[in-house]
Amino acid sequence: MSSETHEFQAEVKKLLDLMIHSLYSNKDVFLRELISNASDALDRLRFEGLTHADLLPEEELQVRLLADPEARTLSIEDNGIGMTRDELVENLGTIARSGTLEFLQSAEGAGDSSPELIGQFGVGFYACFMVAEEVSVLSRRAGEAGATLWKTDGSGEYTLEEAQRETPGTTIEMRLKPADAEDGLADYAQEWTLRQIVTRYSDFVAYPIRLTVMEKKEGDDLAQAETREDPLNSMKAIWTRPAAEVSEEEFKEFYTHITHDHEDPLLHFSTTLEGNFEARALLYLPSRAPMDLYHREMSHRGIQLYVRRVFIMDECRDLMPEYLRFVKGVVDAEDLSLNVSREMLQQDRQIQAIRNHLVKKVLESLKKMMDEDEEKYLGFWAGFGPVLKEGLLPFDAKKERILDLLYAPSTRDESQLTSLSAYVDRMPEDQDAIYYMTGPSREVLAGSPHLEAFADKGLEVLLFSDPVDEVWLEQMPPEYRDKKFQSVGRGEIDLGSKDEKEAEEGDREEEAYKDLIECLRNAVQGDVKEVRLSSRLKQSPSCLVVDEGDLSPQLEAMLRQAGQEVPERKPILELNPDHPILKRLQAIFEEDGTDARLSEYAELLLGQAVLAGGGQLTDPAAFTRKLSGLMEKAL
Ligand code: ADP
Repeated sequence: MSSETHEFQAEVKKLLDLMIHSLYSNKDVFLRELISNASDALDRLRFEGLTHADLLPEEELQVRLLADPEARTLSIEDNGIGMTRDELVENLGTIARSGTLEFLQSAEGAGDSSPELIGQFGVGFYACFMVAEEVSVLSRRAGEAGATLWKTDGSGEYTLEEAQRETPGTTIEMRLKPADAEDGLADYAQEWTLRQIVTRYSDFVAYPIRLTVMEKKEGDDLAQAETREDPLNSMKAIWTRPAAEVSEEEFKEFYTHITHDHEDPLLHFSTTLEGNFEARALLYLPSRAPMDLYHREMSHRGIQLYVRRVFIMDECRDLMPEYLRFVKGVVDAEDLSLNVSREMLQQDRQIQAIRNHLVKKVLESLKKMMDEDEEKYLGFWAGFGPVLKEGLLPFDAKKERILDLLYAPSTRDESQLTSLSAYVDRMPEDQDAIYYMTGPSREVLAGSPHLEAFADKGLEVLLFSDPVDEVWLEQMPPEYRDKKFQSVGRGEIDLGSKDEKEAEEGDREEEAYKDLIECLRNAVQGDVKEVRLSSRLKQSPSCLVVDEGDLSPQLEAMLRQAGQEVPERKPILELNPDHPILKRLQAIFEEDGTDARLSEYAELLLGQAVLAGGGQLTDPAAFTRKLSGLMEKAL
């Protein structure tokens, strides 16, 4: 029988070289690649068997691992479709897929500094050269009588010869490199090593993976094969089973398996994407916000990506937007290449389609929970609401759907949250904006002077105190059900329905207080942009207002904290014309426009307004001195 020698294609040589000298620490993935190939071969045979039943073997379709610790060999064997001689040349001597070339280039470009690229995304068959000195492939195509033996030491050439194989299928035999912990090379002929790798990477492969270890019995020279008949893998790809057939217990077990979270998940659901891009997903919401929710770099258990039941990566961030980063689960894509790299995922149209589908489904299931079990939803909202609200920042388009899910404290009933949609349902017909206020805490907001006129008119105001609220509401407030958001702490407030008499009175007040206001303005000039009469105050004498178009003080502080340069912004001081203090000041002013008390009171009114808004005084000592002086006089 003649043996022919062939040269590898130039790209394959490069790839082999990369594999042989790979610095990549996780060499275990070679087994995942070979098992995945075997599983594909079984899939294809099963498919052909649908029309050619005679091709199907009598034996169960399976993958066998054969390890010989003594001889340091490992074989992976399947009774799948097999390869003809030409197919061996075509498949294992050339690189057909463009993805591999791209991978090669990026791996080369990244150089040794980024060996993590290798192996993480699968380089297919060639990955076995990370662990083997010599590889032979014995394959017989289903439906054919002869077999072919393909063999190489990875040095640039391979040989082909005719051979025998009892039944169709493929056997890949590797002569293993010596184990070397420093180099990340485990002893791949040991049972526990193989068992571990299979459980980690191939647990959900749909065919049984069985292991046979050659053992030397004491006092007996004959090597005995010890077969473990139980498959190493659970084959429990529970996302491929109809949800109705999976028990709650199984769902929970699987959740714990992938997340290492031992609490029950809050919710799980399955979804299938059909059409051009096929995928199945099984998603979970945790019942409690994890510690690392706000430290993205640390979190690493999100959505697992599988391709045709083969594990690809643990946290596939491209499948879920940031604001849904708490969603856990599995996505199993049908048409994605195993070789896909993280860089490629970002642009992959299939990944985009799956992501859009998943986002839609997650938001829908949240809405369903909100409608059916509000208490449960509020539990979710307490932990994850601030993250969900990140989806309202300008870059995402699904704002209306997220606003559908929004809850906030409101002035209507301080003991409970209200949904935004319930707020809008309650709006009086002539109210054309959603009134809200942002601030450092719910307590500060609830006691804020800005709310007085609204309370007086029976208008409900939503109170937002998460840092993220400053950003989405203040920077680019969305509309919801055709209603604008209107901050009660910003700009001029016109609560409407002033009749002519009231309007006239307003003008008269304006005129009467004109000179006093001018005098008070001079006293606090350095700290405020303007002093004016207020239409939002009822009980309090003063409050601070953010000018239209200015940053809110909280947002300003956040930006400064983040190291950004923010231009100095001054607030507007509003005074209550109906308050006794103002009336008294007017009297003093009329008597003597230079009375020292006027400027002192201006500063006190300003300090009060700062404190009521939860802000900090620039000179607290001076403020308390003035206040004490005043108290003394009053006693
Ligand atoms: P991929 O599996 O991603 O296509 P590989 O380099 O791993 O890339 O394999 C190249 C090709 O070799 C496969 O597409 C398949 O046609 C063939 N092949 C590999 N392993 C087997 C196997 N065990 N049985 C049959 N064909 C195989």
